[in-house]
Amino acid sequence: MQRILIVGGVAAGASAATRARRLDEHAEITIFERGGFVSFANCGLPYYIGGIIESRESLLLQTPEKLKRRFNIDVRLRHEVISIDREGKRILVKNLQDEGEGWYKYDRLILAPGAAPIHPTFGGVDSDNVFHLRTIEDSDALRLFLDESRVCRATIVGAGFIGLEAAEMLVHRGISVDVVELTPQVLPPLDPDMAAMVAEHLSEKGVSLHLGQAVENLAARNGRVFSVELPDGRTIKTDVVLLSIGIRPITDLARNAGLAVGPRGGIRVNERLETSDPAILAAGDAVEVIHAVTGQPVLIPLAGPANKHGRIAGAVAATGSGPAYPTVAGTAIIGLFGLSVATCGLSYKAAKAAGIEAESVMVTRRHHAGYYPGGEHMTIKLVYQPGTRRVLGGQIVGGPGVDRRIDVISTVIHFEGTTDDLASLDLAYAPQFGAAKDPAHIAAFVAGNQENGLIRHVRAEEVDQLIRSGYSVVDVRHPDEFFSGAIAGAVNISLEELRAEQHRLSPDRPILLYCEVGQRGYYAARILHGLGRDDVVNLAGGLVAYEIHKRTTAGASPPEHH
Ligand SMILES: Cc1cc2nc3c(=O)[nH]c(=O)nc-3n(C[C@H](O)[C@H](O)[C@H](O)COP(=O)(O)OP(=O)(O)OC[C@H]3O[C@@H](n4cnc5c(N)ncnc54)[C@H](O)[C@@H]3O)c2cc1C
Repeated sequence: MQRILIVGGVAAGASAATRARRLDEHAEITIFERGGFVSFANCGLPYYIGGIIESRESLLLQTPEKLKRRFNIDVRLRHEVISIDREGKRILVKNLQDEGEGWYKYDRLILAPGAAPIHPTFGGVDSDNVFHLRTIEDSDALRLFLDESRVCRATIVGAGFIGLEAAEMLVHRGISVDVVELTPQVLPPLDPDMAAMVAEHLSEKGVSLHLGQAVENLAARNGRVFSVELPDGRTIKTDVVLLSIGIRPITDLARNAGLAVGPRGGIRVNERLETSDPAILAAGDAVEVIHAVTGQPVLIPLAGPANKHGRIAGAVAATGSGPAYPTVAGTAIIGLFGLSVATCGLSYKAAKAAGIEAESVMVTRRHHAGYYPGGEHMTIKLVYQPGTRRVLGGQIVGGPGVDRRIDVISTVIHFEGTTDDLASLDLAYAPQFGAAKDPAHIAAFVAGNQENGLIRHVRAEEVDQLIRSGYSVVDVRHPDEFFSGAIAGAVNISLEELRAEQHRLSPDRPILLYCEVGQRGYYAARILHGLGRDDVVNLAGGLVAYEIHKRTTAGASPPEHH
């Protein structure tokens, strides 16, 4: 009978334990969890704060009693593993309730300690009304504070996924929310043009964004923060602060035991999740994974990888073998005030930063056939490698159906597919579900057209420079649309009039075409190309993308109301 000990009992740890049990009925399996809960739903915490998830019990997916009865797994809550003796194959565990310590022997040890929120160093962070959101205990503390104090204004530091989910939930509770973010955009993994759409939506919903701002200090009185100080001298009055500036993998146990740590600071594992000591496995947020596109080690702290890690680590611990853990594309999605925002693979900026040659296209389409009522727009940005056409990444902002398209793009990335593969996928269609040419197909078609030389796109941020360099700007929308707002200096020749009116175009100046979202601009470009013009470009994402770019670069953060 072998002994399997597990450090950490949430996503990766609990999955490992139950998988090990299913594969080995006789093993002695023990989970040590330093917190007060096992196998809880971290991802649900923001919704518990907001009251959408009413019962705290629904967050507790398992209890020690259930794990014992169903799986014969021992769970020791409030037990912290404090060191590993690799020679003796044993761990030292501290019972946090009575401070007693004891050694436990293992045949296989699985480290699943997760990640810890980064606690910044500016003044005031240890005040009574400053919170993190990582554990049930964190959410209990925050919810209690919100329930019992008069909270009118909240400040969230960090506009990542968790910070923004929390922002929505605080607004849902009737609280006025400010979000301060160090980088000039929300959701830093996204490209700025896609993030700008999200920022606009948040502003419309009443969230005050302070982008490109590092909090300098939290001014506190009697142990309570009352104001957040920004470097430009501005202050934000606040009744509560939520810190959400990122996490770091928990590796102290592994480091102290001399296990290898990778270049990103996570525990290094092979594809069977074995550490540099094969008797010790590691899984979840604490480990480095291999990125599906770059092939480089990265930290991708998400629930999907953590759960799948756990399953493999449990199998390897129980049987000595298990499936190889694949690469990770970082596929993620967030819902914000009815808007769905999703990403996978590399953004355009991440590809460039990694030194990978990249191109992108942007398309806006309804999520299902236009003739069927209720279709909502989604904008897809598809990033691919010119030449090989390999799909590198996707980002989508829209309403219903964003989840399905991001998963399709992620699947193509997983199989190292190309834009042609994406274009030819056989996807389900009926009028209320999609389109015979699905939005994901359209993105791939546009990329294919660009690669085949049928069209050349420019990005919104390039427009002003092109105008300065002498391009004629032609708006090919209907005159009604043109008169309700257009790019300064543009002439209006609608798509339908273009053939007849082509004489109005100067033969000496290259042409920048645009429409609302890019589709009619493409048709116009093909007409002009057919008429002999090879100096035509189309604005990707059309006027919508340009206007968002202008608004977000003109006044990085909206005016404050203090
Ligand atoms: C608020 C929030 C929302 C999220 N939303 C999403 C989402 O929508 N989608 C998504 O994909 N991901 C989401 N995540 C991320 C996801 O929850 C994590 O990726 C996942 O929980 C990681 O699992 P893990 O088992 O590696 O670590 P954890 O879940 O952090 O569990 C590790 C456990 O180990 C324990 N531990 C650490 N050290 C020791 C020790 N020495 N001894 C004993 N115990 C120890 C810790 O107390 C902890 O309970 C969210 C996370 C949070 C916090």
